[in-house]
Amino acid sequence: MLDGLSHPTASSTQRLRLPACPLCGGSTFRPVVTVESHPVVRCRSCDLQLTNPQPSDAELAAIYGPDYVLAADDSPAHAVIVRSKRATADHYLDLLVHAGAPQGAKLLEIGCGAGNFLLQATQRGYDVTGVEYSPYACARARQTLGGVGRVLQGEIEVVAAEIGTYDIVVLCDVIEHVRQPADFLRKVLTALRPGGLLLVVTPSTASWSAQVMGRRWMELKPEHLFYFSPATLTRQLNQTGFQAVALHRGTKLLSLDYVTAHFEKYPVAGIRATLRLLRAIVPAAWSQRPVRIVASGIIALARKPANAARP
Ligand SMILES: [Zn+2]
Repeated sequence: MLDGLSHPTASSTQRLRLPACPLCGGSTFRPVVTVESHPVVRCRSCDLQLTNPQPSDAELAAIYGPDYVLAADDSPAHAVIVRSKRATADHYLDLLVHAGAPQGAKLLEIGCGAGNFLLQATQRGYDVTGVEYSPYACARARQTLGGVGRVLQGEIEVVAAEIGTYDIVVLCDVIEHVRQPADFLRKVLTALRPGGLLLVVTPSTASWSAQVMGRRWMELKPEHLFYFSPATLTRQLNQTGFQAVALHRGTKLLSLDYVTAHFEKYPVAGIRATLRLLRAIVPAAWSQRPVRIVASGIIALARKPANAARP
């Protein structure tokens, strides 16, 4: 889900060339692919992939229209998608419990979208706060939560005063949209209490879908400014003061209906045809049932050091 930082105003039409890799400082890049006129390159020193030059504020503002966050939820397969999202949220919550998340934890999600993850978190007894840039998505999230928890409109700065407050921070499909991931993660670190947990979900260049689909990988989008791998994400987290706890291949609970709807919206020739065929022959009860599949992402669990000084 989009959110977090750097929601641009349409003020600047200038693309931003990064002279050095924000992760390692390296200054030589190798071309990888061009996504709708935006070059994606790989740092020769650390392997981080990034869009460089980065899209202008005006280009990003045009992409992040009012319905960007909610577009998926408003598709005809709405109910199926919501079911899949909530099942995926339960998987992330299981990982957090496994990593030692305390009962009744204070949980902050940056980029909470329509609030599906937060709803599942409240059902585990967590005290939830969502931050969401889009006012439309905020309204939807409040409706989803039915008055439980807090939903704040804005970016991570709206919780800047809540220092050392949260047991858990969750970033689902956010970090790849942020102009300055290191600054953003330092703000997350500040919001966490010492020993608190961070869960990050982001597309992974090491995923099977990236490897198999190559230039047609569905995660290649102009608004994705950084593409991490397990190695570069771990380095980024360590560099900003987190201790890595665990990396998991991103699994999502998806139904055949969900996947078919996705590829109808973002067609990839052979895959769309195969899915249409499958969808035609599989009984409806099966095609709506979420199944755990290894998806295009990586899930990282990290911890703020327990002995971290309170700022
Ligand atoms: Zn680098």
